[in-house]
Amino acid sequence: MHEIIILWEEKGVTKAETIKEGQPSKNPGTVRLGREPNHCDITFDDPRISRLHAEIFYNNQHSKFYVRNLKASNPLMVDDQLVVKDGEVALNQDSVIYFGQTEVKIIYTNSTNMLTAPTILLPPTASNNNGTVLHSPHISQPIGGVVPAGISRFGTTHLVCPNLNCSNPDPQRLIPLERLNVGCSWCGTSLADAGSVFLPNNN
Ligand SMILES: [Zn+2]
Repeated sequence: MHEIIILWEEKGVTKAETIKEGQPSKNPGTVRLGREPNHCDITFDDPRISRLHAEIFYNNQHSKFYVRNLKASNPLMVDDQLVVKDGEVALNQDSVIYFGQTEVKIIYTNSTNMLTAPTILLPPTASNNNGTVLHSPHISQPIGGVVPAGISRFGTTHLVCPNLNCSNPDPQRLIPLERLNVGCSWCGTSLADAGSVFLPNNN
């Protein structure tokens, strides 16, 4: 499963949405971004963003997610590249889409990395005979991870495990955001509906 997590700030709150390859959407094959919920799968509370502004899709040939601008009068930027109407640009780990006054950060989840380069990243025991990719052992370790999900220049986003009896020694039961689709590393509880906490940088 190829997927990314997109992160942005809205009125001081960090928002996160997962985008999966081929997920059900208003325009099958792409996930649409903009201000208008009738036309978009993910909406932004930013008056400078167009009602239907952009779409994100998975490009099999390049094994990456791409963003396409749908709005001639409202270009967007990806990192330092200007994207005009119908223009497409690849999204890399930690890429930032700038549109309206919003900065959307792109996080490729661990499972994406494993599937795009399994022979490089996985130890020999991590694939079974059917070629199915299994979780790499480091995924189940409780702290840290390969991808620094949820880290922005403003601070770091964590999930809160909803299981009150979780064995996490952290009093707030904080879990790295990249566990979103994997479950709590301490007790295995699904984090699909977990709350999140944004810890601002001290400096
Ligand atoms: Zn837990």
